[in-house]
Amino acid sequence: MKKPATSGIKIVKNLLLVVFTFVLVVAIFSSLYSTAPAPKQVNLSDLANNINAQQVAKITVSGNTVDATLKDGSLIETQKETETSLSDTLKNYGVDPKTLSAIPLNIQGESGWQYWAGILLPTLITVLIIGAFFWFTFRQAKAGANQAFSFGKSNIKLFTAFKDRATFNDVAGLKEAKQELMEVVDFLKNPKKYLDLGAQIPRGVLLLGQPGTGKTLLARAVAGEAGVPFFHISASEFVEMFVGVGASRTRDAFATAKRAAPSILFIDEIDAVGRERGAGVGGGHDEREQTLNQILVEMDGFEKDAQVIVLAATNRPDILDPALLRPGRFDRRVVLDLPDINDREAILKIHARNKPLAKNTELRQVAVRTPGFSGADLANLMNEASITAARKGRKEVIQDDLYDSIEKVLLGPERRSRALSIHEKEITAYHEAGHALVAASLKHSDPVHKISIISRGQAGGYTLKLPAEDIHLKTRKQFLADLAVAFGGYSSEEEIFKDLSTGASNDLQIASDMARKMVVKYGMSEKFGPITFGKTEELVFLGKEISTERNYSEQTALEIDKEVENIINKAHEAAKKIIHQKRKVLDALAKQLTEKETIEKEEFDLLIKKFGIKQGEIA
Ligand code: ADP
Ligand code: MG
Ligand code: ZN
Repeated sequence: MKKPATSGIKIVKNLLLVVFTFVLVVAIFSSLYSTAPAPKQVNLSDLANNINAQQVAKITVSGNTVDATLKDGSLIETQKETETSLSDTLKNYGVDPKTLSAIPLNIQGESGWQYWAGILLPTLITVLIIGAFFWFTFRQAKAGANQAFSFGKSNIKLFTAFKDRATFNDVAGLKEAKQELMEVVDFLKNPKKYLDLGAQIPRGVLLLGQPGTGKTLLARAVAGEAGVPFFHISASEFVEMFVGVGASRTRDAFATAKRAAPSILFIDEIDAVGRERGAGVGGGHDEREQTLNQILVEMDGFEKDAQVIVLAATNRPDILDPALLRPGRFDRRVVLDLPDINDREAILKIHARNKPLAKNTELRQVAVRTPGFSGADLANLMNEASITAARKGRKEVIQDDLYDSIEKVLLGPERRSRALSIHEKEITAYHEAGHALVAASLKHSDPVHKISIISRGQAGGYTLKLPAEDIHLKTRKQFLADLAVAFGGYSSEEEIFKDLSTGASNDLQIASDMARKMVVKYGMSEKFGPITFGKTEELVFLGKEISTERNYSEQTALEIDKEVENIINKAHEAAKKIIHQKRKVLDALAKQLTEKETIEKEEFDLLIKKFGIKQGEIA
């Protein structure tokens, strides 16, 4: 709210208006009272002289003012005394009554409209001006008050009326995300189909992904495809200066969506309010927290068959409050990855639609050079290319314009994601291939689902392993296998480049934590056996460790460190051995990764089979 500043400007405006009106009125008055050329002011004796000299053609008396028109056409004016009549006065000045009676005398009574206007108008106008001033001031104050009362209303927007409608055709790649959302849309279109089978309509779908990966775009596409009312609000709009506004806006937004059911409510950038709430640590009943609570309440409050689906988007899933992610709220999560080479090409194609490209441009070559670019970066790239072409006076965008734009986007201030250089790409490929190869070789490791060298969060790439079945308990052998896999990337870099990169630091941290927990928490070390060390205070309901109290001696601490080191060294050795023995497979994997950037499970299985490796051959 910028109230003080604007109201200051308004008061000045009103004052100007009043002054202007005043000037206008004065102007009107003066023109009213001086229609004729101004008469010459004389005194009574001059008038008497003129009459005696037979110069006067006509006399007009109005009130005390005497106007005389002379025979030469000029006007003179004088004042007479109030009480006496003009003829008496003139007689006293020595005018012959006969001469006087020969002049037409016109007496205008002052009781005419002019008289009243002369008295009333000034008063009336003063009253009007003051009235107008008050009216303006009050109206303004009232507007302010109304604004204050409408704070609790969300400025929720109905999306269907949006100018730039998007459909799924405008979204390249993101196959899984699209599929998931299509399902949700179908739920809303044909609820009976699902309800008859006893299925419950999902309440919330959370879109997760780095900035520029197309979360908002995808939501807009859903709006375009859904055929149901689609409401859109940015979470930051919930929160205002005044406490309690967020909560009531949330209520209002949900109420609006419910009234229009079946409908979709899209809350963009939900991390603005969905941050993890403090657990009484460092206090915190702030506005955001209340807003979040209200969202939770509203989502729980949907009746079983309420046909409102809440879509939300965030690029910071790590800071979201766990309560938001509980079943019954945002129980579906859709991850939007940075695009791989094929997706990048498809995105470039979409954004090249309305741009004249030269015949020999190859968007594929641009895609090859832009690993790590987000969809937004690529859209920006195409735009920059057009600008460059226009500036150089070309009618078409040529390949060099595209290449030049890569650098521009890379250096631009907006740039958030990072691109890999050719060498980095190679290191990352070998690193991830190392993880995957070790995971595939060990019996107790989870099978590999997907490998990618497109960065995700802080890591250069990632290898996704998923357990074949749900597990609730984890065994010592599984821990050891996971440790070895964690060292797969590190060992691969060692083996190939005889050097190490910072890319492995996260792996090492995870490995160290895991090894230490095995020793102090799970009693899984050979040396100490079934004993735990340290007392960890946990915030049970949040599952967060706050502090660890040490309840053992320095001596023991030293031995624990040694045991952790021991476990880690063994894991490292195991990984090293696998990497060294299967160097050929590693090379092949890394090569394919460099080319394609992502390898799905089927391709991966095929490739290791070709080298005669069976999933989990090493116990
Ligand atoms: P965010 O994930 O930060 O909400 P946006 O949805 O706002 O990202 O994406 C910004 C822009 O980037 C979009 O308007 C679109 O032009 C482009 N874009 C991003 N991802 C894609 C994609 N998969 N296909 C086509 N364009 C995309
Ligand atoms: Mg967005
Ligand atoms: Zn790694």
